[in-house]
Amino acid sequence: MSVTTSSQGRSVIVTGAGSGIGRATALLFAEEGARIVIADVDDAAARAVAEEVQRAGGTAVTVIGDLREQTVVDRVAATAVEEFGGIDVLVNNAGIMDSMSAAADTGDDEWDRVIGINLTAPFRLTRAALPHMLAAGKGAVVFTASEASLRGSAAGAAYTASKHGIAGLTKSLAVMYRDKGIRSNAIAPGGTLTNIRVDADRGAHGPAALAPYMGNVGSPARAEEQAAAIAFLASDAASNINGAVLPVDNGWSAV
Ligand code: NAD
Repeated sequence: MSVTTSSQGRSVIVTGAGSGIGRATALLFAEEGARIVIADVDDAAARAVAEEVQRAGGTAVTVIGDLREQTVVDRVAATAVEEFGGIDVLVNNAGIMDSMSAAADTGDDEWDRVIGINLTAPFRLTRAALPHMLAAGKGAVVFTASEASLRGSAAGAAYTASKHGIAGLTKSLAVMYRDKGIRSNAIAPGGTLTNIRVDADRGAHGPAALAPYMGNVGSPARAEEQAAAIAFLASDAASNINGAVLPVDNGWSAV
């Protein structure tokens, strides 16, 4: 068996593909010959990535909207089916980290926003994709979880709960659908150089803003290093890996 991750002709949905880990993932899958649905709330960013894919000779379409809305979720799944004939790979990656509050300081709005984007939206999109994967008898779902899926994290109550939820969803799917040809895995990134919004109040973005929360992270990852792990987990080379939450953190979680 080859250990390359060729995705030739596969229909791949990547959420949050306008930036960071999602962008790197979309570009990597496109390089491997996959056709990509780029789903993001940021219109300009999503279109820029689609153009990058197209300039490199690949195929990508965009679906713009907030994935907290069921209509947007439905449009993402329908676009993959209508444009590319099905859904081979679903990468549930979009997420925010702009609530760093401890539980006592976490308001309902903050809780609902973080859980809505980081946990409910990936659940709903997976639910929308599953009938197509079941009909095909195959499919791979990969989530972008977090080191906050593995332990209590300084990233705050809502974020940590949302990412633990993603780990649970990853494993539940693996157990419930492993006999149907569907695999579900997650990466658990440590600090990674992206544009992630860290603190809504201060408008802070990216690695510098992450620094106070990262503790002894060592050197942060590049988005491409997370993308490589996602592509591997989605590939046939990972055919017996199901229900894994794979740290991609240069040993941070091992300390
Ligand atoms: P990023 O901000 O660079 O990219 C996230 C993308 O998701 C953006 O393009 C944004 O517009 C999109 N998005 C956000 N909310 C959305 C919504 N409601 N609907 C549709 N699109 C939406 O950040 P990133 O670091 O690449 O984040 C990707 C994932 O990685 C997230 O799930 C995040 O929790 C996870 N993660 C990141 C780090 C890190 O250090 N960067 C660490 C662990 C986990």
